[in-house]
Amino acid sequence: MSPLDEKLEPIYAEVLRRNAGELEFHQAVREVLSSIGLVIAKHPDYADQALIERLCEPERQIIFRVPWIDDKGQVQINRGFRVCFNSALGPYKGGLRFHPSVNLGIIKFLGFEQTFKNALTGMPIGGAKGGSDFDPKGRSEMEIMRFCQSFMTELYRHLGEYTDVPAGDIGVGQREIGYMFGQYKRITNRYESGVLTGKGLTWGGSQVRKEATGYGAVFFVEQMLKTRGLDFEGKKVVVSGSGNVAIYTIEKIQELGGRVIACSDSDGYVVEESGIDLDLLKEIKEVRRERISTYAKLRKDTADYVPKGRIWDVPCDIAMPCATQNELNGGDARKLVQNGVIAVGEGANMPCTPDAVQIFQEANVLFGPGKATNAGGVATSALEMQQNASRDSWTFEETEQRLATIMRQIHDRCAETAEEYGMPGNYVAGANIAGFIRVAEAMRALGVI
Ligand code: NDP
Repeated sequence: MSPLDEKLEPIYAEVLRRNAGELEFHQAVREVLSSIGLVIAKHPDYADQALIERLCEPERQIIFRVPWIDDKGQVQINRGFRVCFNSALGPYKGGLRFHPSVNLGIIKFLGFEQTFKNALTGMPIGGAKGGSDFDPKGRSEMEIMRFCQSFMTELYRHLGEYTDVPAGDIGVGQREIGYMFGQYKRITNRYESGVLTGKGLTWGGSQVRKEATGYGAVFFVEQMLKTRGLDFEGKKVVVSGSGNVAIYTIEKIQELGGRVIACSDSDGYVVEESGIDLDLLKEIKEVRRERISTYAKLRKDTADYVPKGRIWDVPCDIAMPCATQNELNGGDARKLVQNGVIAVGEGANMPCTPDAVQIFQEANVLFGPGKATNAGGVATSALEMQQNASRDSWTFEETEQRLATIMRQIHDRCAETAEEYGMPGNYVAGANIAGFIRVAEAMRALGVI
């Protein structure tokens, strides 16, 4: 990663001091700061009035107890978080993550990233993130419902369609959004559709929201490939994860003629050279909620299961990490480059470590950073809010068309900004700079708040 500008060094040192031990947050802040030195040189006024210091400090952070009763009648306690990073561009917007690894530092990294991602979409949404260290794995339907209701019983007072609008993330899909929306409605006595996104189609949701992050990531990579006269047709692709983002990434790649040969969960990965059977994968993950090893068992003649292995050892033309942060390290990146990878698109948030990103860039691999590549999810959430506000609902085709246009615009915004700042092809710099400028201009207009 490039060194920091001398004006930004003390700001970063202060971030380290004030947020001790929050490693993912440090990583996310450093990555953005390392891109914006040139912007500050060109527009020193963007650093006035402690604008960058304010950007690195969340507007508010809420931490709360979530007590709930398990199926054995025992009281369980989890911790809930909502970090509202920046509302210069619109109401706070960002997902909720339920995973045992969740802590304040992880939620802060995600909220910080979200601020720039949301700015890049060009839509009127600020940045936030939340969640809990609750582990949904192995929990019954009723336990999930009781947890979601307890979580919302505290969080509801901080939300509102003009204030803060959560959505899903790891461990939070349409089922959990439903239970939380139900509890919000019950407590507030308002059918306020615009308070949560990722809702079901019959109760205020939008077509394409479920597919949006994955489809959008593929649209972004498609645009990157186009700059070199390439496309997905006939390409071998490896997608990590097998959750919401991974499944719809695989679906769109297959529609565009690519062959996805491997996917994973946190226990291991499967490889099937003729291509993953998506209907079977959906059945296992979305309906039966089982492990990826079940896929290999059911396809034992054609698929191999590698427990705990590195999915990035599988040779491919295109790699799309769609599971979690820091899941692709420098060693994985070197292996992918040796095996001839031509493009990497981050479906997850910050899945590639800083050294992995550097290796891809030095090898001239097309690299799409998560804050641009996976922005289709939140952009479609903003489309859901638009439909809720106008009591309207659009067709699948119309909504997908809008998503495709937004992703093309995000791609072009990143590419043009990188070019303008003398780093053609550097989508990391392009995304960070373009996102920063939009937030900074709004913050300046709103004064010191
Ligand atoms: P899901 O919970 O639907 O799926 C997550 C997948 O990643 C699962 O296959 C899970 O495996 C795997 N995974 C999670 N944690 C780990 C881990 N520590 N190690 C290995 N594998 C892991 O989540 P999503 O698909 O919604 O989210 C995936 C990524 O995309 C996250 O980084 C999220 O922040 C990002 N994202 C999501 C958006 C959305 O709209 N949903 C929008 C933008 C970004 P297992 O089941 O074994 O845990």
